[in-house]
Amino acid sequence: MADIVIGSGPSGIAAVKARLALGRAVILLDGGKTLEPEHAAPRDALAGTVPAAWEASDVARYKAGQYNASPGQIRKFSSDFAMEPAAVTFAEAGPVALRASRAVGGLSNLWGTAVLPYAARDMAGWPITAQDLAPHYRAVLGFLPVSARRDALADLLPDGLPEAPSLLTPSPQAQVLLARAVTRADKLAAQGLRIGAARQAVRDDCRHCGMCLHGCPTGAMWSAADTLRDMLGDPRLDHRPGQIVRAIGETDTGVEVHLSDGRRVTGDRVFLAAGVLETARILLASNGFDADSLTLRESQHGFLPALQIRPNRRRPDRLPHHTLPQMFVEMSDEAISPHLVHGQVYTWNDFYARDLGQTYGAKLPFIAPVWPVLARRLIVTQLFLHSDHCARITLRRAADGRLQAQVRLPEDTHARLQSAGRKLARGLRYLGLAGLPFATRLGAPGSSFHVGASLPMSEIPDARRSDRLGRPAGASRLHVVDASVLPAIAATTITLPVMANAYRIATEAPA
Ligand SMILES: Cc1cc2nc3c(=O)[nH]c(=O)nc-3n(C[C@H](O)[C@H](O)[C@H](O)COP(=O)(O)OP(=O)(O)OC[C@H]3O[C@@H](n4cnc5c(N)ncnc54)[C@H](O)[C@@H]3O)c2cc1C
Repeated sequence: MADIVIGSGPSGIAAVKARLALGRAVILLDGGKTLEPEHAAPRDALAGTVPAAWEASDVARYKAGQYNASPGQIRKFSSDFAMEPAAVTFAEAGPVALRASRAVGGLSNLWGTAVLPYAARDMAGWPITAQDLAPHYRAVLGFLPVSARRDALADLLPDGLPEAPSLLTPSPQAQVLLARAVTRADKLAAQGLRIGAARQAVRDDCRHCGMCLHGCPTGAMWSAADTLRDMLGDPRLDHRPGQIVRAIGETDTGVEVHLSDGRRVTGDRVFLAAGVLETARILLASNGFDADSLTLRESQHGFLPALQIRPNRRRPDRLPHHTLPQMFVEMSDEAISPHLVHGQVYTWNDFYARDLGQTYGAKLPFIAPVWPVLARRLIVTQLFLHSDHCARITLRRAADGRLQAQVRLPEDTHARLQSAGRKLARGLRYLGLAGLPFATRLGAPGSSFHVGASLPMSEIPDARRSDRLGRPAGASRLHVVDASVLPAIAATTITLPVMANAYRIATEAPA
């Protein structure tokens, strides 16, 4: 018999890779959605021509799909294939901005590609250490392209860094800021700030066409679907797209996966990687899973705007450039958090002027021409806090099989974020930026998508805690491998540690 992996997002693909490396046969089930042909065609047309030859009208049409997304939906390629609407997952409309995916490749069709490992200090008290994960980060780097450089972040976050790193050319604004971060490194360090180049899961043939937030035409931004495509030639991998899992059961000799159409798939062992919402839904519907609720924890985020005091010599809105995060900031300050606070710095992108106009346009219609000029000086940092300080989202099974969500938000989350914003604003002065900390806003619960820890790995597993192989108490062949099993959600990015941990569990689980 074969192993079963549920989900072809980053965690599922890491588990598939590890099981194939052990010589196991794998049945891979997922929701099966892919980009529709009518949306793939404009993408392929842009990919087939150099950006300098693109027609302005084609570019405008390509971007319009994202500008017109429904509230709460995040899109790329003008398509909603990669993100399920809230009503598919939740029985009642509520305050949770987190969404599930039933796509091949999952939410990695939409992600921002920012990749960092978890710092050893943020894993204190876990049943696994940073050292346990280190070889699995290396295994993941065997199929995940990472753009990076060895800089001020390297000794704090050494894992997940390629042996011979090379960096995507930063945007013109980021080049200036990164150069200042190097010359002012001591002053920043004295304030508990380390600033280095962002690390992104992007291939080095990126064309710097500025379409990162709309859908990369050439597929240089990694998606788990890319690695799946590369593995499909392996006769031991049986990919079965469009098979929606409802529940899982263990038998004396194996596992049974129950599909929503009533069919069953059997195997030796199952690795559950359906993304934290769908994983909770499947577990809560499974006989033998004792808990009637699961509580997700989030690394919540907020945005700190800042303005360049002197404009760039080169206009930031002219190509070539990319619009992914350009720099990472790691903040250490016990008064704000015993854990790292993480920041991702974005320079110019085409959403800035639109967002400024939409937020302030009605109040200040006479200065409409100013927004594009202001947008060219705007630098925005997305700040993340450790989950110890953030929202808890409790999930229960509704009568119709969907989820009911209840949110609890600690009283001091916003205050901590504002303290972090004020501290960062002081540091950003060294880079020639005037931060606007009074404008720092906390994102809605779930909106960071850095969410998990609903079945945390523990030395003593029970109905709501798994062992170090992702098994809730009583399970021996069911391994949860997505972010559900992280003991907490650190502020640094979530997906790379989830992939390394999924690879570790799938390697250490009996063959
Ligand atoms: C806009 C956006 C930006 C992001 N940016 C970043 C970033 O820069 N850095 C970062 O670290 N993280 C980022 N994330 C988060 C990142 O995308 C997720 O952490 C990651 O995709 C989770 O991977 P996963 O494999 O656990 O789940 P998913 O990616 O959600 O994949 C779930 C898989 O399970 C399948 N599935 C779901 N339900 C079922 C079912 N019932 N039956 C069968 N199959 C099922 C789906 O088809 C899919 O293949 C971002 C997310 C979003 C939305």
